[in-house]
Amino acid sequence: MAHKSKFQAIRGTRDLLPPETGLWNHVEETARKVFGTFGFGEIRPPIFEPSELFGRAVGGETDIVAKEMYTFIDRSEKLARHPRIGELGAFIQAVKKLYDAGEIPRDASNQLAIEHAEAKWSAVENLFLEKEGTKADFENIYDLLAYIDSMQLGSNLSLRPEATASVCRAYIEHGMAQLPQPVKLYYIGPMFRRERPQKGRYRQFYQIGAEVLGGSDAPAIDAEVIEMVMRFFDRLGLAGVELDINSIGHNAPDCRPAYVQKLKIELEKVKDKLGADSQRRIETNPLRVLDSKLEHEQPIIATLPRIADHLCEECAAHYAAVRRQLGLRGVIYKENWRLVRGLDYYMRTTFEITAKGLGSQNAVCGGGRYDGLVELLGGPPTKGIGFAIGEDRLILSLQESGKGAAPQGRDVYIAWMGEHAYAAAIHAAKDLRNAGFSVELPPTELKFGKALERADKLGSRYALILGDNEVSEGSWTLKTLADGTQEKFTEPELLEFLENVRVSGVRS
Ligand code: ATP
Ligand code: MG
Repeated sequence: MAHKSKFQAIRGTRDLLPPETGLWNHVEETARKVFGTFGFGEIRPPIFEPSELFGRAVGGETDIVAKEMYTFIDRSEKLARHPRIGELGAFIQAVKKLYDAGEIPRDASNQLAIEHAEAKWSAVENLFLEKEGTKADFENIYDLLAYIDSMQLGSNLSLRPEATASVCRAYIEHGMAQLPQPVKLYYIGPMFRRERPQKGRYRQFYQIGAEVLGGSDAPAIDAEVIEMVMRFFDRLGLAGVELDINSIGHNAPDCRPAYVQKLKIELEKVKDKLGADSQRRIETNPLRVLDSKLEHEQPIIATLPRIADHLCEECAAHYAAVRRQLGLRGVIYKENWRLVRGLDYYMRTTFEITAKGLGSQNAVCGGGRYDGLVELLGGPPTKGIGFAIGEDRLILSLQESGKGAAPQGRDVYIAWMGEHAYAAAIHAAKDLRNAGFSVELPPTELKFGKALERADKLGSRYALILGDNEVSEGSWTLKTLADGTQEKFTEPELLEFLENVRVSGVRS
C-alpha cells in the first residue's frame, strides 16, 4: 500500500491518521473532562524556549539535556545574512551593538570572538583600500572569518523535551503566585527528544501532563493528583494498570544526602560486579543505579540499603500520610523503593504507572514532587507536584487490548441522480449535517449501482436514494445497507426516523 515518495517523515516522527486520530481525540477529550472535574485548567506553552530553561530545570547532566535536545541558534534578523568581505567591519560593529543590548548572548565566548574579530579587521581593513596583500594578511582574513564563524549570532533555543519547565516559567512570568493557591494546570502536546526510535519511543512524542503549583505540600495534594491520573486511566479502560510509589526524601543533610552517602559506600564494595554504566553512576548519580534493568545487577541491587529506612522524620511522616490518603481514595499502589528521580529538586513523592502490551517501554506515566523548581528558575519558593503521561504509549496499550478506534463510516450516503434531485440532495445534506449526522454527498452524478457500491465501501449505514421521481413525489427512499431493506419517507419523517435510531444507538 505505502509508496516510496521523495519526501518522508523524519526518523522518529510519524503521521497520525484516521481512524487512529479518532482514538487520540477520545483520549484527549477524556483527559480534559476528568482533569476539569478536579479543577484543572489548560495551559498551552510554546513549543520552543531558551535552551537554558531546560538546562536549569531538567538538569545539564541528564541525558535529555546533554544529548537529546533539538537545539538551534535563532540568528538575529538585524544582522546581514551574507556580509561581503569588505563589509565585515560594519558587520562586527552591528554584532557588537546587539551584544551590548543583550540581543545575542552576552557570554565570554561571544565577547572574546568580537574582540579578536575587531583586532583582525583593523589589521586587514587597509587591504580593501586597494593596497597589496601579503601572506600574513591572508592569514588574518582567515582568522577573522573563523572568529565570526564562532560567534553565536542569536538566541540559543530548543524544542521542548518536556513541559514542566515551561509551566513553571509561565507561573513566574504571569505572577500566578498572586492567584488563589494552588494553581492547577494541565497541558497536552508534542515533546521532542533525539532518542533511538523503537516501539513506544519516538523523537516527536506526545504528553498529557498536569502540575499543581503553590499553596501547601499537604499529602492530600499528592494523593489527589495520583487519584486523578488513575481515574483518567480507569475511564479509558486502560488494561493492566500498575501504580508504583516511593519517597526519595529531601535535600537536607539528615535525609537523602546521608542515604546517598551510605549507598555510595555500599556500591563501592560491589563495584567490580557492576556494569560500566552503573560503575560510572556511582560517582555521578548513585541513585540512578537503582534504576538499572540489567539482569545480572538485580541480585546485587536487592541487597543495597533502602531510602525508606533513611528518611528524615518529616519526610517519613509525609510519605506515610500520602499512603494513608491513597488508601482513603481507594487507589491501589505498590511501594517500590527503587523508583528514583536523579535530580536535586525532586523530592518526597515519586510515582510511575505502567500498563499492558508495551514490552519494555511500559511506563505510561511518571510524576513526582519538585518543591525547589520554581525557585531554581528565579521565582518565589513554591511547592509543586506533577506528572506526565506518554500519550503514544497510552494509545498503543489501548489498541493492544482491543480498544482501538472503529473506522469512521458515514451515517448517510446520498445517492442522487438528476438535476432536481441534486438540489434536493444538497438541502438534505445540510439538514442532516446540522442535526449531527455524518453525510457523504458525491460531487458528481453516479449511476445508482455505482453509488451504492461507494456507500458500502465507505462503511455507510444508510443510502438515501434521490432521483428526480422521488423528489417530485416528495417520497424519499432510505436503504439500510446491512440488510438491503428499503423504506419510504417524506423529508420530515426521514429526519425523525434517523433521530430515533440514533437514540437507540447509531454511531455519531
Ligand atoms: P523512559 O524511562 O521510558 O525513557 P522517561 O523517564 O524518559 O521515560 P519522562 O521524562 O518521565 O520519561 O516522561 C513521562 C512519560 O513520557 C514516560 O513515562 C513515557 O510514557 C513518555 N515518554 C518519554 N519519552 C518518550 C519517547 N521518546 N517516546 C514516547 N514516549 C515517551
Ligand atoms: Mg527517557
